Amino acid sequence: MKILVTGGAGYIGSHTVQSLLEKGHTPVVLDNLVYGHRDFLRRLQIKDFYVGDMGDHALLRRIFSEHKFDGVMHFSAFAYVGESVTRPDLYYRNNVMATLELLDRCLESGVRSFVFSSTCATYGEAQSERIDEQHPQNPVNPYGRSKWMVEQILKDYEHAYGLNHVILRYFNASGAHPNGLIGEDHDPETHLIPLVLYAAMGKRERVQIFGTDYNTPDGTCIRDYIHVCDLADAHILGLEKSLEQNKSYIANLGNGNGYSVKEVIEVCRQVTGLPIRADEAKRRPGDPPRLVASAEKARTELGWNPQYSDLKTIIEHAYGWHRNRHG
Ligand code: UDP
Repeated sequence: MKILVTGGAGYIGSHTVQSLLEKGHTPVVLDNLVYGHRDFLRRLQIKDFYVGDMGDHALLRRIFSEHKFDGVMHFSAFAYVGESVTRPDLYYRNNVMATLELLDRCLESGVRSFVFSSTCATYGEAQSERIDEQHPQNPVNPYGRSKWMVEQILKDYEHAYGLNHVILRYFNASGAHPNGLIGEDHDPETHLIPLVLYAAMGKRERVQIFGTDYNTPDGTCIRDYIHVCDLADAHILGLEKSLEQNKSYIANLGNGNGYSVKEVIEVCRQVTGLPIRADEAKRRPGDPPRLVASAEKARTELGWNPQYSDLKTIIEHAYGWHRNRHG
C-alpha cells in the first residue's frame, strides 16, 4: 500500500513509518518539522518526504497529484494541553481546519480510508475503572476538543461521502523502537517517562511528582502506558481492515493496566540502576486522577495484539533510546 503519513517525522508518526516499511508498504511523509525530526526520516531512509504545512493548499495539491494513495494516516497536530488553553486558535486552526483541507484532497483523489490519531483526552474525566469506546466524550481542554471535533467531522464525512475512517484513541504513548534509530524527543518535553529518565541521566536535577493527594492507592495519578511500536502496528491493522471490509472503526489503544507516577519512577530506578530525585509538587491543572483503557475492541475487531505490555520493557526501550540520543 502507498500511504500518506502526515506528521511522519514525529514520535508516533515515525514509528508508524518504520512499521509500514517493515511490512513492505510505501510511506510518503508530509511534515513541517516544527516538532518532527528530519534525522528520523534520514535514518529510516525515506525518499518520499515533503517539508511543509498542512495548511499549504498548493503543496497538498501537488502531493496528491504526484501520488495515488491507498490510505492516509493523519498524525500531524499540536499536542500540548497547557498551550491549547492559552492559544486555542493555534489548536483549532492546525488540528481542525488543516484537517478539512486534507480531507478535501482525500475525497477528490478517491482515498478510501482515513486513519486518525485521536486521544483518550476526548473522554475527559473517567467515569469508570476502565474506559471503553462507549464512555461519554467530554473533553476538558481545547486540545481534546480539537481531536473530538475531527472525530465528528469524520463521522459526518463517512455518512455524506462514504469516506471510511479508523479513529484510534491513544492512552499514554511511550517507549521507543528497539532498533535505537527513533524515539521520543519533544521540545519542550512534558511527559513523565522521558523526564524521569532525564533525572536519572543527570540531564535534569530532579523530577516533580504532580500531586500526591489524588484518590488513588499511593495518591499519585494513574495512567495506561502503551508502547509506541504497538500503537504503530494498530494503525496498519486498522487501515488494512478498513480497506478489506470497506468499514470504519473506532478503537482505544492502551494496555488496560494502570501505573501510578510513583510506580513509574520506581521502575525507572530499577531499569537504570540509578538514584532518581523525585520531589512532591502540587497538582498540574487538568490532570484526571486515573485514565486506563479497555482496549478489547482493538483486539477483537482489528486483531491487535500488543507485544510490549510490560512497563519495564517499555522503560528499557525508552532508556536505550535516550542514552543514544542524549547520553
Ligand atoms: N507527571 C508528573 N511529573 C512530570 C510530568 C508528568 O508527575 O514531570 C504526571 C502527570 O501529572 C500525569 C502523569 O505523570 O499524571 C503522566 O503525564 P504525561 O504528561 O506523561 O501524560 P498525560 O497523561 O498528561 O498525557
